[in-house]
Amino acid sequence: MHGLMMDTPLLISDLIRHADRHHGATEIVSQRVESPLLDGSAPRHRYTYHDAHARAQRLANALASLGIGASDRVATLAWNGFRHFELYYAVSGVGAVIHTINPRLFAEQIIYIANHAEDRALFVDLTFVPLIEKIAASLTTVKHIIVMTDRAHMPATQLPNVLCFEDLIEAADAHFGWPQMDEHMASSLCYTSGTTGNPKGVLYSHRSTLLHAFAAALPDALNLSARDVILPVVPMFHVNAWGLPYSCALTGAKLVFPGQHLDGRSLHTLFETEQVTMSAGVPTVWLGLLNYMQENKLRFSSLRAVVIGGSACPPAMLNAFQDGFGVQVIHAWGMTEMSPLGTAATFKAKHVQADAKTRQAVQSKQGRVLFGVDMKIVDSDGNTLPNDGQAFGDLHVKGPWVTQTYFKNEGGDPLRDGWFPTGDVATIDADGYMQITDRSKDVIKSGGEWISSIDLENIAVAHPDIAEAAVIGIAHPKWDERPIVVAVKKPNASVTREALLAFFEGKVAKWWLPDDVVFVEQLPHTATGKLSKLTLRGQFKDYTLPA
Ligand code: ADP
Repeated sequence: MHGLMMDTPLLISDLIRHADRHHGATEIVSQRVESPLLDGSAPRHRYTYHDAHARAQRLANALASLGIGASDRVATLAWNGFRHFELYYAVSGVGAVIHTINPRLFAEQIIYIANHAEDRALFVDLTFVPLIEKIAASLTTVKHIIVMTDRAHMPATQLPNVLCFEDLIEAADAHFGWPQMDEHMASSLCYTSGTTGNPKGVLYSHRSTLLHAFAAALPDALNLSARDVILPVVPMFHVNAWGLPYSCALTGAKLVFPGQHLDGRSLHTLFETEQVTMSAGVPTVWLGLLNYMQENKLRFSSLRAVVIGGSACPPAMLNAFQDGFGVQVIHAWGMTEMSPLGTAATFKAKHVQADAKTRQAVQSKQGRVLFGVDMKIVDSDGNTLPNDGQAFGDLHVKGPWVTQTYFKNEGGDPLRDGWFPTGDVATIDADGYMQITDRSKDVIKSGGEWISSIDLENIAVAHPDIAEAAVIGIAHPKWDERPIVVAVKKPNASVTREALLAFFEGKVAKWWLPDDVVFVEQLPHTATGKLSKLTLRGQFKDYTLPA
């Protein structure tokens, strides 16, 4: 016997309709791309969920006038801002697919993914017009290029058929009814950064996006509410800004979009003037903010929590936020293939009164699964390993917001017995807290055993003189590989190679001690702001270990 409840589809358009109806006066504030100055002379763009919904409906009509129909791909090359937000809702709302392109990719990769996705239209922020001018001729399927600005700021460009976003909105009919459709319809498309081989597309659906938005908002995940002011530092071109544009509409949280400037000063100014309560981003961004605040002896007056993910949050960063600034850290883990949230490191009741060391250990892990995701660790034969916090193996996941296969079946069937192999190596403890020991391709194999590069990096950045550090394996005739630390010193710091090596002693097993320390001016990062170990290994291919 079936239940007798209504069968209403889970649709993205219902999020913005809900936000308009029940949080219509709540603000969405954007640092403008046209005038990014922070000296107060350039007012931010401010409007409400009600206004955003009205404009998204006009935009939906405008898309139809451009010939965009169901399942057509519409690309964006844009920062976090109100027009990008409107595109999220208008494109998915009409049944088309928003393809957010990471502008930090190489031009050839952008061409590849735009052609692979068969993007019909491309919406670009002013910043990226010069980039598009260089590659437009290679974009074989794009019919329209729309610059995300008003008439007054339209650039002089030779691009053919270029349109102005505000002209489109103005010309469009204000009346629109969001169509009902199958919740399994595709809604958005993100390509993985493809450190090996070509990037692969992950195609989200309305259903997966809504289930993820519900789960992300929960108290033991990102803990969002109508009393919050959320600033997504994580870009809207990086896994849908970790779903925040959806979860914020779902909860009615105020949104603050930072535009293109994500340096410490810009972020701190925005946090303070908009009274931000929660923010989310990768460790690299927080490093810049923390350094700026410490140098200038600044405080936060409203910030209560930061979500740190994308790379491991070093314990030193955890302490800096929590002990130094009274800001709670929510360490989270996920990936493009998981929409992206998989786990969050929030406490159980027994940790509330625990000592500081225990609490730090819990928060340094990547956390417990959100309901909806299931996870397990397996050995090289696929046998499930115990959840004892000791055994480590390949982390496999499944759930309704985990990818089943890549767009156009690129790379074949990725699943193993119905589970998605994440490419991460992890432990899971008896309380269900997962800890990443490494990316499987970054783990250092020494004498038949594995050394976690993340553990060694966490120790290096806990040294007061070290700003950032990467640990890579270097080929060794006897041990296979040995770890070395490549580190960036803080300004005016005087730490020596010997002193940093000595700093590791007593903190790890003897055979884990790095063989060398090399200081560099800067470390290479990927398009999503992570340490690029691949590039670093390339830079160190001729390096030889000290005798
Ligand atoms: P890409 O794979 O293209 O770099 P993703 O954002 O999908 O982009 O990266 C997912 C990977 O990032 C995970 O598989 C994991 O290796 C790493 N990662 C994400 N969050 C964390 C975290 N909190 N700690 C350690 N690694 C993380």
